[in-house]
Amino acid sequence: MTGAGWLKDHIRDIPDFPRPGVVFKDITPLLADVDAFRFAVDSLCDHFSGQAVDKVLGIEARGFIIAAPVAYRFGCGFVPVRKGGKLPWQVEKEEYVLEYGSDLLEVHKDAVAPGERALIVDDVLATGGTASAAVRLVERLGGEVVGLGFVIELGFLGGREKLVGHDLAALIEYQA
Ligand code: AMP
Repeated sequence: MTGAGWLKDHIRDIPDFPRPGVVFKDITPLLADVDAFRFAVDSLCDHFSGQAVDKVLGIEARGFIIAAPVAYRFGCGFVPVRKGGKLPWQVEKEEYVLEYGSDLLEVHKDAVAPGERALIVDDVLATGGTASAAVRLVERLGGEVVGLGFVIELGFLGGREKLVGHDLAALIEYQA
């Protein structure tokens, strides 16, 4: 069995984590199930299969886990987008607002070359602050965002509205 409903059965809701009022979407059951993990990666790849992709960007930390096999399937490079202070070389920085807090996102200055086509991947689209910061980083480096792929979209937080004009794929949507 496969499909969005089946995939959703592999997400564990953790109420009040990391702070009261937030329902954390734990993807570790999905990652631990070979069929669910493969289905998630393949579904994201299928959505963007008509696109030429030069780099797949994964957002720290759970985005790395999904983005790396997507990059492998596209036969292109993987780029880590990390929280502030983690990357060792020269970086571009963008501030972003989270569902719970605010922080910096950084990428190495040579991670995306001018004109390269970049696909951005993360586990969860919540308010869209993180993803839109990643879009700005790609554009600052002179790259073109071909799309954004997520396993989960928290539709009630309206993140999609911050990404209007981009090809956005989300495998599971929650409306509340
Ligand atoms: P946002 O910038 O609000 O779209 O938040 C997206 C980022 O925060 C992603 O990297 C997610 O991993 C993480 N995140 C936000 N909300 C949740 C949640 N309810 N469950 C799991 N991860 C979340």
